Amino acid sequence: MSLSMRSLAEDIEMKIVLASRNKKKIAELQTLLSQKIEGVEILSLDDVGITGEIEENGTTFAENALIKASAAAKSGYIGIGDDSGLAVNFLDGAPGIYSARYSGEHGNDEENNRLLLKNLEGADDRSAKFVCAIACVFPNGEDSICVEGESMGRITEEYFGNGGFGYDPIFFCDEIGKTYAEASAEEKNAISHRGRAVRLLALELAKRFAN
Ligand code: IMP
Repeated sequence: MSLSMRSLAEDIEMKIVLASRNKKKIAELQTLLSQKIEGVEILSLDDVGITGEIEENGTTFAENALIKASAAAKSGYIGIGDDSGLAVNFLDGAPGIYSARYSGEHGNDEENNRLLLKNLEGADDRSAKFVCAIACVFPNGEDSICVEGESMGRITEEYFGNGGFGYDPIFFCDEIGKTYAEASAEEKNAISHRGRAVRLLALELAKRFAN
C-alpha cells in the first residue's frame, strides 16, 4: 500500500526524527517508510541539533523505544525510537533489553555470541525470538503509537554465515530455514522483527494521517 500524504503535508511537514545517529538505521527507515508513506523524510538527532546520549532506563523494549521517541519529539517533529534484541526461552528471556551488552562491553558481538553459546551448553530448549519495538511520539508530547515485530527461531550450536551483525550467525530463523547471517538483506527484511515492526508502524501512521 502506498498512501499519498499530500493533503496532510499541507498542514504538517512530513519530517520524522529517528532517535539515532546511525546513518545505516536512518537510511533503512527512510527506505522502508518511503514505500508506504509518500514524501516522508527521516532526520537524525544530529540533523535537529539534539546532542548527548539518551538514557535508556526502561525495563522493556517498548519502554526504551518510547523514551527514545519522546527525546526525538522534543525537536518539534514526530519522534521515532526503536529498541530490539534477542529473547531466549531457556534463559528466561535474556539477553533481552541487554542484548547489545550481554557480555559487558556494549556492541561486542563476538563476545556476546560466545557467552550466549556458553550459557546454552547442554540446554534442551534453544528456542528464541528477536523482538523489535518501535515507538512514535507526536510533537504535542501526549500522543504516541507503539508497535512490535517478532521473528521466531532457535540458537544454533555453531556459527553459520558471514552476513549481518550481532547474533545473526547463531540465530536460525524458522521461516527462512537458515540463520540471519546466511540470508540476503532482502530475505531478512521480509521476515525480520525490525522489518515487521517498521511495516506495522507505517500502516499505523498511514491510518492516522488518512483520518
Ligand atoms: P538495537 O536496539 O537495534 O540497537 O539492538 C540492540 C542489540 O540487539 C544489538 O546490538 C544486537 O546485539 C541485537 N540485535 C538487534 N537486532 C538484531 C538483528 O537483526 N540481528 C542480530 N542482532 C540483533
